[in-house]
Amino acid sequence: MKRYKCKICKSFYYRESADQIRISMTPLSRVCDDVECKTKVAMSALENKRKEVFKEFKENSKTAADYKKELQDLINWIVKEIDKDLPCISHPEHKSFLRFDAGHFWGVGAHGCLRFNFHNIHKQNSEANQRYGGNADFANGLKTRFGTEYLTMVLGLPLKFKGTSKKFSIPNLKEWIRKATYLKMQIKQGETFTRDQLNEYLGIYE
Ligand SMILES: [Zn+2]
Repeated sequence: MKRYKCKICKSFYYRESADQIRISMTPLSRVCDDVECKTKVAMSALENKRKEVFKEFKENSKTAADYKKELQDLINWIVKEIDKDLPCISHPEHKSFLRFDAGHFWGVGAHGCLRFNFHNIHKQNSEANQRYGGNADFANGLKTRFGTEYLTMVLGLPLKFKGTSKKFSIPNLKEWIRKATYLKMQIKQGETFTRDQLNEYLGIYE
């Protein structure tokens, strides 16, 4: 016989070691013979199972749109982080606004295929983002910050990546979410990346 501690009431109970090994494979493991302790542990096992099933159900009922939003949130976080020391791309002179957004030069409505491309997304004040989106001021900001060649490259993105959104399947989105989460973790730990490196790592735009 060996002595064990009940994980509910903390009192000691005795089992043959072999029995304990067999019992510990079941949800009723590591409890004494008290009915209350056995009930408590069974209820909590049931609750855990319920949570697990619910989580799986939630994960399985997620749509491509849900995954797109999850990935977009990650990418927007990364954009704001890599641009954190820079002013608004389109209206650097604006002083009062609610917050910074990750602004798309080519809007996600008309150019959904570019929604995850780091060259298309820059930190922008929320008012300018909502009111103007990717207008002439945004283009000017890109030219001032990165040069004419860069602006030309950004202007050419729709033609270059037309049809990319065909790749936005749930398995692909899940893989990109996994990679973007890794990038977020790296950035939080102080790593720095260029937009080219971020695009290349995610592998959406080749
Ligand atoms: Zn007990």
